[in-house]
Amino acid sequence: MLSYRHSYHAGNHADVVKHLTEVAILDYLLKKDKPLCYHDTHAGAGLYSLQSEHALKTAEYQGGIAKLWQYEAQSSLLKRYIALINQLNPDCELAFYPGSPKIAALMLRNDDHIQATELHPTDFPVLKSQFVRRRYTRIENTDAYAGFKAMLPPLVKRGLVLIDPPYELKTEYQDLVTGLQEAYKRFPQATYAIWYPVIERIAVEAFINSLVATGIKNQLRIEFNLHADSHGHGMTGSGMLVINPPYTLAEDMQRALNEVQQQIGEAASRFSITQLVGE
Ligand code: SAM
Repeated sequence: MLSYRHSYHAGNHADVVKHLTEVAILDYLLKKDKPLCYHDTHAGAGLYSLQSEHALKTAEYQGGIAKLWQYEAQSSLLKRYIALINQLNPDCELAFYPGSPKIAALMLRNDDHIQATELHPTDFPVLKSQFVRRRYTRIENTDAYAGFKAMLPPLVKRGLVLIDPPYELKTEYQDLVTGLQEAYKRFPQATYAIWYPVIERIAVEAFINSLVATGIKNQLRIEFNLHADSHGHGMTGSGMLVINPPYTLAEDMQRALNEVQQQIGEAASRFSITQLVGE
């Protein structure tokens, strides 16, 4: 089943949290003068028009990036993220939002590597077409976890693996845990950033417990809840579980999310950053 299309959701509050985390990790890795590899398991289409029928139908970006893109941030991470969005929107109009692989492409150096997998038959060619001229790039129309077996470890032995499934099927939670263990065996020195939605609190905690139970060390949990938890009222928040986070990530996200909460939050909004498993 591949009914999920990210074009309905691009730039929403969950994208803001996910992409801030991505930018923070990549910025840290970029400090070293040594190539890195960015591996994106569920890459999407790469670039989204916020004036498309899909984006206008849900208008989710109005509760996310639309409230931030003209904001003068204090935190250097939030500033950097907003600058990347503005790079795609030079005409003082919010027309485009970058997906996770596009953000990486905007940030990385020519000798850094990009690897991505995307299954959707419509989104894949759109994604691929944006990378045809880039060296050190591998974009495959294959399953995320088959991609781990075929593409990890990468040639370059440092980097970020972003895991961002649509969670359309309940089995995707267990598939992720199994896939992560496979990837970690192959590429243990990487940073892993796993996105998850907050829909049903009990299911969220069960998922987090299953990640902790893998025994993988050094897990940081970042969660932003726009609304209070609810039962059966859709996604109220989202989180990132980060394995081998840069030591700067918790503080960078604390500062950035403080401002995000002020700009897009509501009375019940809150966020938390917790070291779940030590190093
Ligand atoms: N990471 C993207 C971003 O932040 O811009 C958004 C990705 S979206 C949440 C999830 C994507 O995963 C969809 O484009 C969907 O087609 C794709 N997908 C679903 N199942 C997949 C699988 N087993 N392997 C690879 N891609 C898959």
